[in-house]
Amino acid sequence: MAEEYHDGSCVVIVRTREEFVRWLREPKPGVEWLQVEGLLGDQEVWATAAQGTSALPLDVILIDPATEFSLLYRLVDARIVRSVRVTMPAAPGFMKALRLAASLQLPVRLLPGQPTVKVLAELTEAVKFYLHDPMVDSPVEFFHSLLISLREDDGGTLWRILEEDPNVFARENGQRPRDFVEQHLASLIERGAECASCRWQTLCAGYFKSPDPQYDCAGVKQLLALIESAAEEMNRDLAGHKTASLS
Ligand code: SF4
Repeated sequence: MAEEYHDGSCVVIVRTREEFVRWLREPKPGVEWLQVEGLLGDQEVWATAAQGTSALPLDVILIDPATEFSLLYRLVDARIVRSVRVTMPAAPGFMKALRLAASLQLPVRLLPGQPTVKVLAELTEAVKFYLHDPMVDSPVEFFHSLLISLREDDGGTLWRILEEDPNVFARENGQRPRDFVEQHLASLIERGAECASCRWQTLCAGYFKSPDPQYDCAGVKQLLALIESAAEEMNRDLAGHKTASLS
């Protein structure tokens, strides 16, 4: 499908060593990055990625961060010649992978899904780690962009931040319509879901009600409030700094 695509920017998903090497060495115009799935264990792939034959960025997908985390060391040399991001689900034990990725200065995209109580506790730990640990100097999504959205009120939604909004990141195999987010939120509101009166509706747009619309959002609302209070604190600190600079 990627071979036939000529309509502008795209992300190419590679799942075999052959696909990876071919696309890395001969990227077609318009390819923004490669999404690398199931290849973290293949040492030859990462030796190739560490060669500067192209600067094509990589998004490396972890399926089970709790068991795959030690393989992240393989990305160290590749990171020197190109941008490398790590994407992982917020599955139990993901903090090990998040901490290691941060120590290797790799940006992270954390996919929260519909977190259980146990994972919510880990997500809270992750927010605090992202906000306060001096080791973190690369973005951890979705925290990073959410913090910016809350500080600057830029109208971005979690769907967009997490690159799951089909209006921006359409899948060529067309799993969801372009207006999926609008339709999803409208349908939740029509059915009387708690999104109708939720203060996070603009930012979240029903993200946590998918796929299960019955998911209880009490925990994620606390998580969002934690990030909001950090955004408010930053704005206060910046305002104080400006005032001090003027006086
Ligand atoms: S936090 Fe939950 S209730 Fe609020 S908008 Fe998101 S999905 Fe809906």
